[in-house]
Amino acid sequence: MKRSSNAALNLVDVSSDRVSVAQPVFNGREKEYVDHCLDTGWISSAGEYIEKFEKQFAVHVQANHAIACFNGTVALHLALLAKGVTAGDEVIVPSLTYIATANVVRYCGATPVFVDCEADTWNIDPRMIEERISDRTKGIIVVHLYGAPVDMDPVMELAKRRGLFVIEDAAQAHGSKYRGKPVGALGDAGTFSFFGNKIITTGEGGMITTNRTEIDQSMRLFRNQGMSPKKRYWFEMIGYNYRMTNLQAAIGCGQLEGIDWHLNRRQEVVKAYREGLKGLDEIITLPVEKPYATHCYWMFTVLISDKSRVNRDALILKLDQDGIETRPIFYPMFMMPPYAENADRYPVAASVGIRGISLPTHGALSSSDISRVCERVRYHCKGE
Ligand SMILES: *Cc1c(COP(=O)(O)O)cnc(C)c1O
Repeated sequence: MKRSSNAALNLVDVSSDRVSVAQPVFNGREKEYVDHCLDTGWISSAGEYIEKFEKQFAVHVQANHAIACFNGTVALHLALLAKGVTAGDEVIVPSLTYIATANVVRYCGATPVFVDCEADTWNIDPRMIEERISDRTKGIIVVHLYGAPVDMDPVMELAKRRGLFVIEDAAQAHGSKYRGKPVGALGDAGTFSFFGNKIITTGEGGMITTNRTEIDQSMRLFRNQGMSPKKRYWFEMIGYNYRMTNLQAAIGCGQLEGIDWHLNRRQEVVKAYREGLKGLDEIITLPVEKPYATHCYWMFTVLISDKSRVNRDALILKLDQDGIETRPIFYPMFMMPPYAENADRYPVAASVGIRGISLPTHGALSSSDISRVCERVRYHCKGE
């Protein structure tokens, strides 16, 4: 299969000379597979691509099972349902994440209990989890934020000792590894998103991976309205329609075949950023790579030093005026109305949350795009 960088760079440039923060790249057989669905009429939630996508994704994550579903949020919901999370329960969630991680706990009628993040990875701080465990705690959701793997060994040790489940929210971490093993099959279950800006995409889409047969079977029931796999229109329980379509899976098969290309392109982008942003250490902290980590760099997110005179929000605005789209790091959960809480318990997330900025990170960036981003960042930070 040929996937040259040029194929990506020759994409129709929809936004003239604006550099977008994220952009999907379809340079494999996605179109051919989608055409096949349309030609054969298999466009809904049965068809060969769904099974193929699940099988191939399981191999990619080195998990025994993979279950495709409609998006990354319902993937998390299915995982919690399979673990029996219900009203009155508590689930440990990182304070710094995308809001879906907390919302799904609420969908079950349970309460998310937040834990502060590490200062360097911005992931949940494993040392801070135990003090948040109560007799209502059922489990822990960790998030491999921006693709940086969580330090899983201490989390798994604690979970085992306290009898808790562990779900990995790997929505941003396709291809990331912890001590050489793909994330997503390290805990009880792992969840992935294929939203348009993720490492690989199906438009909207999600997947759950697990090594446990009973979790796989339970999630398949919940995904399909609770219908008995043996008896059509016989419903043993209340489930959901969280199915993926064959069309989504067709795109997913094309994307997954090329995932190494997508991951390698991101490494090239990151290398160019590290080169282009050299010497700004006093002002900008670049993402760290821990000895245990293979980082997939969903986003190249940097922190503005709290000692610098550069203001994060002002920098976002100036870059936007230069035609460069960026994103603020996620707002910590306790800052937002549904989960409002005093920030004192989460000093690290409170600080990181106002200083982080994600630079454009995607497979279609050219080296001149990256040079331009670096040049403008240098100019606004140092006047160079
Ligand atoms: C994207 C994302 C989700 C939700 O995925 P959707 O496919 O958008 O529903 C959940 N958790 C994290 C950390 C994400 O980045």
